[in-house]
Parts: sequence; structure tokens; C-alpha cells
Amino acid sequence: AMDAVRVLVTGAAGQIGYALVPMIARGMMLGPDQPVMLHMLDIPAAAEALNGVKMELIDAAFPLLKGVVATTDVVEACTGVNIAVMVGGFPRKEGMERKDVMSKNVSIYKAQASALELHAAPGCKVLVVANPANTNALILKEFAPSIPEKNITCLTRLDHNRALGQISEKLNAHVSSVKNVIIWGNHSSTQYPDVNHATVTTRNGEKPVRELVANDEWLNKQFITTVQQRGAAIIKARKLSSALSAASSGCDHIRDWVLGTPKGAWVSMGVYSDGSYGIPAGIVYSFPVTCKNGEWSIVQGLKIDEFSRVKMDATANELVEEKSLAYSCLN
Ligand code: NDP
Repeated sequence: AMDAVRVLVTGAAGQIGYALVPMIARGMMLGPDQPVMLHMLDIPAAAEALNGVKMELIDAAFPLLKGVVATTDVVEACTGVNIAVMVGGFPRKEGMERKDVMSKNVSIYKAQASALELHAAPGCKVLVVANPANTNALILKEFAPSIPEKNITCLTRLDHNRALGQISEKLNAHVSSVKNVIIWGNHSSTQYPDVNHATVTTRNGEKPVRELVANDEWLNKQFITTVQQRGAAIIKARKLSSALSAASSGCDHIRDWVLGTPKGAWVSMGVYSDGSYGIPAGIVYSFPVTCKNGEWSIVQGLKIDEFSRVKMDATANELVEEKSLAYSCLN
């Protein structure tokens, strides 16, 4: 029998956590044959709710689930984990300054980085979901210097999937026939959803999205703002932020990273920039990537037009600013 993979979920008593843990236990993250051990962390105020989630996981009798650790102790939570999904974070409350939220999250991510560095399994792969996701991932990288930077990523797959969904709806084409959209940059409203390289598989072969939609006005305006503002639209409708789609895309992110992207397709991941496409090195930026043998690599050589360039740089600038704000919180 295969050894169980230990998967950490922080903020596990929250609403994304509640949607995510059953997906992991069902094999949606690591495949239908891979046993898992769930490590769930939350803060003491959420300990009772966390224990309730543990009870439900037991009650669901998931065949792949080999055990559950539910704890408020960060060291216990991080010990031996192979995958870490960081959902816990300090929410932005009304009237709070950006700097105050940043400062809270910097201290959370600094502490959790140290625990992962000391106690996670070698080769542990980290996915940061909690906002500001890119900058939280950067802080985690800074304070876990022995974890290779290649192993620390943030979630923009939800934005990527939202872009696929919008194109699919527009063309009345199945979402699985649409591929190779790109989310560039920050998981924030400055992100740039790019369809210039996206295609749809039709009866007559693969066709560019631009050709099929045949409406540049819609693609350059409404499409982009709809994807950028989708999170806010869901909050407005549900009175709660997106949870099932965030959880599902977190599973997609890890699954493709570990098991590989399909031939001819790429996905978007927030990764440590190496300067590709003229994006400053040293920030966590969302790029198109392919994955193989458990490693991502940035898709190279895509042609970038002037319209895209401006948007890619604007979201990079926001991340450079966030980085300096985060560093100013460290002192
Ligand atoms: P959610 O489960 O809804 O969200 C968790 C985090 O994911 C938030 O930072 C949220 O950002 C972020 N996020 C990123 N992308 C998305 C997306 N596309 N849609 C929605 N959210 C997204 O929050 P809850 O408040 O329900 O749960 C958070 C849990 O974390 C709680 O159980 C709490 O106890 C715990 N927590 C842990 C801390 C710690 O580890 N020290 C500190 C504080 C809380 P955004 O806020 O911008 O929506």
C-alpha cells in the first residue's frame, strides 16, 4: 500500500477550510489512490469548531483518509507534512489600514515559516491562499530559507479557472475545451487575465479564443474586469467570500503541480520571479507554468503586446510596493 501523504491545512475551521478538507480526503488533490493524513491548524478561538470538523471527517468515513490531526499548536501541525496549504490569515476588517492587515499577516507567516522550516518533511510543497497571498508567500520564503524557493507558491488558479469559466460561458463551449488563459501578477484586482494565447478545442481543431469570441472590446474590457471583480461579486451575492471555488482550485493547483499539467496546456501559479518577461526578480508573481515530475517551470517565449505589457507591469509594481510595505512591518 502507498504511504499516506501528510497535508497541512491552516485556518482549517474557516469556510475555505471546511470546503477543502473533504475534497482532500476524497482524493481530489492527490488522486483517487493516494491515502492522506490531514493536519488541521487553527487558532485557539476556533479550537472547538476545528474539533467539530474533525468529528465530521471521521463521520464521513473517507476510505483514503488515514488520520486527522486537529491542533492549535503550530509545531504539531507542521511536523512531517509533505504539502502545506496556508488558508489561515487575518481578515481585513472594516476600517483597518492596509498596513495593519499586512503587519498581522507578516507575523503569522513569519512564525509559520519557521515551524515549516524546522518540522516539515523534506521537499514539502507550500501553497499560500490567505490574502495578501503573493506577499504572504514571499514572507514565508524569506523566513524558511532552507525550503527551496521553488517549493513556495501562491494561489491564482481560482482566477485562472474564473477566466476559463467566462470564456466557456461566452462561447457556450464546455469549460474543459478552453485552455491556456493566463493570470499575470498579483491575486488582487490589478491581476491581468490574458487570453491572447488561449484556445478552444472545436470540431475543426484548436482555435484562438480571440478568433472565436470575435469581440476585442468585450475581451479587453468586460472580460478582464469580470475576472478581476469576481471575488467581490460573490461576496455581494453570498454575503460570504468564495469558498468552494477557492477550495477546488487549491486542489487543482496542488494536483497539477504534483502530478503534472496535461500535454499542451499550462496553468497559472504564483511563483518566485526569476525575471522572466521582464518582471522584477524577488517578488511572488503569477505566471503561466507547466509542471512535470513535481516541478513547475515558467512557460517561455510568449509574445507580449503593448496592451499586455502595461497591465503586467502595473500588477508587478503593486507587488513591489506590497513587498516594501511587508518589510516595513518586520521592524
Ligand atoms: P476564509 O476561509 O473565507 O478565507 C481564508 C483566507 O483565504 C482569507 O485570507 C481570504 O482572504 C483568503 N482568500 C484567498 N483567495 C480567496 C478567494 N478567492 N476567495 C475567498 N477567500 C480567499 O476565511 P475564514 O475567516 O472563514 O477562515 C479563516 C480561518 O483562519 C479561521 O478559522 C481563523 O480562525 C483562522 N485564522 C488563523 C490565523 C493564524 O493562523 N494565526 C489568524 C487568523 C485567523 P480575504 O480575507 O481577503 O477574503
